[in-house]
Amino acid sequence: MDVFQTNKEDDRPIPLTIKNYENKTRKTDPFYVEMKNEIKHFAICPACKNPVLVVNLYVDKTLDENKNKMPIHAKHCKYGIKGLAEYSQAAYDNCSFANPSKFGGTSKHNNKGKRNEIVSLIKEYPVILYNEIRSITGIDFNESTFSYMIKNFIKSEGYYYKYINKYNLPYSFLNMQKGIRLFNSQLYYSNIKNELIKSINNSKYFCYKNYKIVPKSKDGFYEIELYLANHNVDKEYESETIDVVIVEKLDGKVYEIFNRTIKINLEKYINTIDKQRRINSLTDEIRIEDEYFENFV
Ligand SMILES: [Zn+2]
Repeated sequence: MDVFQTNKEDDRPIPLTIKNYENKTRKTDPFYVEMKNEIKHFAICPACKNPVLVVNLYVDKTLDENKNKMPIHAKHCKYGIKGLAEYSQAAYDNCSFANPSKFGGTSKHNNKGKRNEIVSLIKEYPVILYNEIRSITGIDFNESTFSYMIKNFIKSEGYYYKYINKYNLPYSFLNMQKGIRLFNSQLYYSNIKNELIKSINNSKYFCYKNYKIVPKSKDGFYEIELYLANHNVDKEYESETIDVVIVEKLDGKVYEIFNRTIKINLEKYINTIDKQRRINSLTDEIRIEDEYFENFV
């Protein structure tokens, strides 16, 4: 995983970088620990509170079997670290970072607390979810499409799906949708925008014209749809990827025109929510009442 935490009471994931790690730990016990004449680096998993070992914090020469440099990452420890955290197998087994459920499964949980947490994130911060799903796919879904996705999520009881959690919500929310129609859609700012335009223009039936995805020819009943597929968990790095796929259809035939594997970012969404909460609280004390304004006179 590429997030960590140093405070057991805090479940916000901090992006794992040398700067963030040094800043949060102040290079002290119990995070920097000498073991067998070597300094090891530890932190806490924001979700399960078990200790995690930070791998390759300062070393970038470790090579995998393909001789690639292995990046900095954190990995759950199966033992407790004195002064930091005890090890809990039960918490590890349920951890959404250590043991993420495979996307697409239909198994459900019956934890009402988890259900309420997911539903209130969607209900109270719809704009953040809307922005995230547009940024992940590069598609500027219109309001009625987003409205349909929310209804589908509620109708299918997405909030009870085991694989859906507050860290991966924009991705898991998209994943549980059927093919999402892109006919007449605009593109959204993203780092795959140029690649999308190229793929759409190279397709059989569609092109990106006047800032819209439209058919090249007026005759025929063409469709173009997007979906997420092939969720993959890398046990070694404790990281996850998923494919963004676009297909075009005519007369029951389906052609893939775009397929890109992206890394699932498990901190951006929930940290954006947290920031929004903080910003909202800045205006909590303002009242729309005459007495309130009179205090400033
Ligand atoms: Zn964990």
